[in-house]
Amino acid sequence: MTLVTLFVVTSAFAQRDWSKVEVKATLVSGSVYMLTGLGGNIGVSVGDDGIVVIDDQYAPLAPKIEAAMKGITDKPVRFIINTHYHGDHTGGNEYFGQKGTIVAHDNVRKRLESGTTFAGVATPPAPKAALPIVTFNDSLTIHLNGEDVKAVHMPPGHTDGDSVIWFSKSNVVHMGDDFWVGIFPRIDLENGGSVKGMITAVEKVIATVPDDAKVIPGHGTLSDKAGLRKFLDMLKGATAAVEKGIKRHKTLDQLKAEKVLAPWDVEWGQSFIKADAFIETLYKSLKPGS
Ligand SMILES: [Zn+2]
Repeated sequence: MTLVTLFVVTSAFAQRDWSKVEVKATLVSGSVYMLTGLGGNIGVSVGDDGIVVIDDQYAPLAPKIEAAMKGITDKPVRFIINTHYHGDHTGGNEYFGQKGTIVAHDNVRKRLESGTTFAGVATPPAPKAALPIVTFNDSLTIHLNGEDVKAVHMPPGHTDGDSVIWFSKSNVVHMGDDFWVGIFPRIDLENGGSVKGMITAVEKVIATVPDDAKVIPGHGTLSDKAGLRKFLDMLKGATAAVEKGIKRHKTLDQLKAEKVLAPWDVEWGQSFIKADAFIETLYKSLKPGS
């Protein structure tokens, strides 16, 4: 089964036509830009001292990502921060690691180095050149471009190595995959993720950042604190709905049949994570051993 899954995923990756992907840069605020292509949203801080890049999507897109940054500035890449280990956020590490220093939470390096399994898909150990060479346990700040770029480790949410990145002067926060816009989020339970942790992480950011901050989600369109609150409401509501079913000894199949996430389905379930998949994630996260 694993072999079959692996084959299918590998084929899908190989068949993807990277030449059709367009990497676009949008000014967010101050000296921070958001780059979109395929995979996790990229955050970029630019200025006289060089570039700090947050996440780097997939390896085949690295030259396009670099070209999009060249359209903003001719300064060099100095640092790359990974918000977590997933391949759609770290795929360009080997390429950009030749240009700057890769920084991430301890668990990002650990998981890239050892290889992982998530949702039946095995990812082999990353090459040495793709590993973060500076890691941190709690938080780390890069002082460049008159900006404090602060990476703060979050409670285990999307994974156990999540960081949100705060650009204090430009008043922007990059949430990594602890925040998706208009899509039920994936939660990597096999690598330390938990829905309760994700709720705590989002609450922590809402309590910390100014009301007028711009918020870059891991996936989906550029957002703000109102968007974060909306996401939190959905997470809490969906969690409560599944918890209620678990307390009543409902099985996973019963919860799916009862469509317990129907109130959120129209807005959050029409993209690549459907309601049934999110019910399953919540059920497994809230009922250990299930
Ligand atoms: Zn992710």
